[in-house]
Amino acid sequence: MTRFGFTIHATDGKARTGTIAMRRGEIRTPAFMPVGTAATVKAMKPEGVRAAGADIILGNTYHLMLRPGAERVARLGGLHRFMNWDRPILTDSGGYQVMSLSELRKITEEGVTFASHLDGSRHMLSPERSMEIQRLLGSDIVMAFDECPKIDQPRDVIAKSMEMSMRWAQRSRDAFDAGGEHAEGAALFGIQQGALDEGLRNESADALSAIGFDGYAIGGLAVGEGQEAMFATLDFAPGQLPQDRPRYLMGVGKPDDIVGAVERGVDMFDCVLPTRSGRNGQAFTWAGPLNMRNARHAEDTAPLDERCPCPTCTTYSRAYIHHLTKSGEMLGAMLMTEHNLWFYQQLMQALRDAIAAGTLAEFARGFRSDYFRG
Ligand SMILES: [Zn+2]
Repeated sequence: MTRFGFTIHATDGKARTGTIAMRRGEIRTPAFMPVGTAATVKAMKPEGVRAAGADIILGNTYHLMLRPGAERVARLGGLHRFMNWDRPILTDSGGYQVMSLSELRKITEEGVTFASHLDGSRHMLSPERSMEIQRLLGSDIVMAFDECPKIDQPRDVIAKSMEMSMRWAQRSRDAFDAGGEHAEGAALFGIQQGALDEGLRNESADALSAIGFDGYAIGGLAVGEGQEAMFATLDFAPGQLPQDRPRYLMGVGKPDDIVGAVERGVDMFDCVLPTRSGRNGQAFTWAGPLNMRNARHAEDTAPLDERCPCPTCTTYSRAYIHHLTKSGEMLGAMLMTEHNLWFYQQLMQALRDAIAAGTLAEFARGFRSDYFRG
């Protein structure tokens, strides 16, 4: 069986569509990965996540190391068995969330020591410990440990952070390769840093390519810079990375972010937006997002989206979902999460089809026209 293979089937401008082959299954690209933060895609059973069209989900190292603990997950047979998902899982390195969630952080060349946001207990993450945790979880795509700096800092601060992340990338590579049986079946991705700076992004891409990874992530974006700045960076960043490897834009995004990033050559995405929005009363549709708390839906018998074949839209009305949402009923969050995950996967399928047909520019124009008209 293939450990990791990436085949590009068609290109359209800078965009590509292809297949990643791994031991636990194939991943169609461009791909969207639902986020399973704490060993669950919130409000969804795994079979529902799969039925929506997901080939791969994401698990969070930071959350799982704190609760229930990576060693415990390993004793219970690994993350796939623990949560009943037998297809590929990508785990992040913990680097981003240790910066955004933990307290009393101290960053040194060795790694990061921090206090848990749950109970204040002391923990350490380093490239070596991050690789160990992701191995204990049984991750299929392991992410290198990096530092994601705040984006609005002077260039020399961004440069120093990026250079340390590249030394950590080499240590991640070495620790991953020493992982025995796990390393023989899993893949390792490096993460490009350098904020919005083309020169620093290029240095980072060169350093990662010299080490060699199965795929390459574009890190340090979607951290508050705004879509215009993100797209300006994506005008050059994907092209700096190896052409024959998947490119993964971490933490993105809104449907229109994804369309614009695919046009700029990105192959993989993850984001909490479809699941988090589903719990907050927001439904994504081809005519733009809907706030289901709004009273205008109170007697609307239409589905969330007329074009959507999902179990929510083929069964329930906007009026019912409005009522559930207003009443704080769990089922409201479940139905809207299911629809949102289906919507995101239908968007990815439409992007893949448009690239294969050579009609991506036309599709993207039509998408934006409908999405922003609503
Ligand atoms: Zn639907």
